[in-house]
Amino acid sequence: MGLPEIIIDLNKIRQNTETVLALARPFGIEVVGVTKVFLGEPRIAGAMLAGGVRMLADSRLENLFKLKQAFPDVPLMLLRLPGISQVEETVRLAKVSLNSEIRVLEALAAEGRNQGKVHGVIVMVDLGDLREGVWPEDLPDFIGQVLPLEGIKLQGLGVNLACYGGVVPTEANLGRLVELAASLEEKFEIRLPVISGGNSASLPLLLEQRMPADVNQLRVGEGIVLGRETVKRQIIPGAAGDAFTLRAEILEAHEKPSVPIGEVGQDAFGQVPAFVDEGRRRRGILALGRQDVPTEGLSPRDGRLKIIGASSDHLIVDLSGASELEIGSVLEFDLSYGGLLGAMTSPYVHKRYI
Ligand SMILES: *Cc1c(COP(=O)(O)O)cnc(C)c1O
Repeated sequence: MGLPEIIIDLNKIRQNTETVLALARPFGIEVVGVTKVFLGEPRIAGAMLAGGVRMLADSRLENLFKLKQAFPDVPLMLLRLPGISQVEETVRLAKVSLNSEIRVLEALAAEGRNQGKVHGVIVMVDLGDLREGVWPEDLPDFIGQVLPLEGIKLQGLGVNLACYGGVVPTEANLGRLVELAASLEEKFEIRLPVISGGNSASLPLLLEQRMPADVNQLRVGEGIVLGRETVKRQIIPGAAGDAFTLRAEILEAHEKPSVPIGEVGQDAFGQVPAFVDEGRRRRGILALGRQDVPTEGLSPRDGRLKIIGASSDHLIVDLSGASELEIGSVLEFDLSYGGLLGAMTSPYVHKRYI
């Protein structure tokens, strides 16, 4: 065993998947399991599959490659818009991708014909979050250009909210997505079987029974891995918020003042730090730093502890309330989404599956 480590409870991932699926099922909503925060690691993705998801989604082709190797029969979705340079791999690895550029769709169609496949396409609509998506007024023209393309199949419309602009999914904006799809179906005499209504930020609409009818797919990552919705970051009833535990060791535990001695200039990251004088405190220095995890994304499980600060290789924790903790003691932390992303991505954080 090496430290720092992240312990991943696969049973909790499976149970959280079951909980989210049970929440979505009465609304006729399919949940696609999003694997990007854990780099498409097959053991965790496998727990999502055991919990009942039938499709996996990731933003990166490298991760889709791993998933395809591990689960050749599971359909995969590419979440990030494919770049024009990624068209060949996208068609090879993903059954469906999210799109908003006609030139890319033309290239996907040509590549689909080339590989003898029909690549599924969901056209993203920007409903105000200002990340990816076609602007609603431009949608009819855009779809008019997509429909004649052979080698791809338009499956429906999608939206992503609460990511860049922080726009909250509501009955109104998701209702607009449903209306846009209906008007396209009428105008072009087509069927759009998929209305992909967003990410974990759309889960509160399920909890409050306010999800517009006809939304029939959600792409859920954080809701499963951290067991919570992402508007107010509240735990989903019945889900576990502690499927991941970060553990790190105390290297030094000395009593010291809380304000540095001497002239204060810039710290290691170019910031001039500010200090509050709380007198002498017992300070633990841990073998965990910004090269392991964005330390803002950590919260100690033990309520008596408080994070004071961090540098590249060290985390400083106030241990004054916990006199039994000594060098060699191991502290446990919960992780935010950003913290989890960093810990899973860092080669220095050992991964342990239970
Ligand atoms: C990351 C992502 C998701 C999943 O987001 P969560 O908040 O983790 O549920 C869904 N859709 C797209 C397009 C994404 O990039």
